[in-house]
Amino acid sequence: MSYSNLSKMNFEVSEEQKNFLEQVDSACTSIRDHESKCYLEERANDRIVPEFGKIGMLGCPISKKYGGLGYDVLTYMLALERIGKEGNSLRTFFSAHISIGQMVLQNWADEDQKRKYLPNTTSGKSIMAFALTEPTAGSDPASMTTKFEENGDNFILNGKKHWVGNGTIAKVITTYARGPDRRISAFIIDTDSKGFHAEEMKDKVGLLTVKNAEINFENCVVPKKNLLGTKGKGLSIAYSALIDGRLSVAAGAVGVMNDCLEESIKHSQKREQHGALLAKKQLIQEHLTSII
Ligand SMILES: Cc1cc2nc3c(=O)[nH]c(=O)nc-3n(C[C@H](O)[C@H](O)[C@H](O)COP(=O)(O)OP(=O)(O)OC[C@H]3O[C@@H](n4cnc5c(N)ncnc54)[C@H](O)[C@@H]3O)c2cc1C
Repeated sequence: MSYSNLSKMNFEVSEEQKNFLEQVDSACTSIRDHESKCYLEERANDRIVPEFGKIGMLGCPISKKYGGLGYDVLTYMLALERIGKEGNSLRTFFSAHISIGQMVLQNWADEDQKRKYLPNTTSGKSIMAFALTEPTAGSDPASMTTKFEENGDNFILNGKKHWVGNGTIAKVITTYARGPDRRISAFIIDTDSKGFHAEEMKDKVGLLTVKNAEINFENCVVPKKNLLGTKGKGLSIAYSALIDGRLSVAAGAVGVMNDCLEESIKHSQKREQHGALLAKKQLIQEHLTSII
């Protein structure tokens, strides 16, 4: 099949998927007011994990073998599109926990690592994050300076990451560091490890209900069994995570746009100026159609 022939893709969902998406819709509706309140108060929304945990959303595309729902990418993206209607903050929580969190383990971890880490993340006992960006290595992660060296049964990590979404609450993260041969490897980190420090990045201008962290590795001790994938191939893992992350952002953005359209139409049908509803004005109609 040609990748450009979208007409052959099947976007239909089964009854079971439809039921799940209805549950996502209900969970979104149930936390809408709380999300708005938390946004105004610039605090993390503490109802995300319990409300979305109840319906299995915390492990939506993760295999049933590890406690997930085992849904395909289409179902997961439709769920994120709906979540996006509640704003980018809420969607970012899921991008960090699932798309650049759990999916990195599902795609790259060995069986022991998957069994050890994934079930707690699908149940919501443990939240995930992805720590790649550094103060001097943003869109060019290949220039990262975080380092690792080997010491007996452990790796020792030193360096700094920042902008890590969910980084203040995550119990498990993946991170990326350069070895003595200058090649980059990927690691699974328990955030209670010795030498791991996370601090909230404050005064953000947006995404106020999701918290980003600056993370310092100061002689952080990581067991050798927590190497993720092949030593020296960590950048491929990071790049594959970024692809999954971008897809989640795009799906959420469709939800944001739909929400803007719906709210604009509602407002224009209620608000009167110059003797008529805004919806009756040709210029407003043009603005609305340009959103579509
Ligand atoms: C809200 C938020 C959440 C984030 N979450 C995470 C996370 O969970 N985990 C994580 O690891 N990171 C995260 N990041 C970091 C994010 O991935 C980086 O911000 C991103 O990679 C860009 O890096 P930078 O901010 O250092 O910008 P820079 O790399 O300094 O880029 C600045 C500008 O220059 C442009 N630019 C750079 N290179 C070129 C070029 N060659 N040609 C033309 N233009 C160029 C960029 O597009 C950008 O507009 C997050 C960032 C934000 C803002």
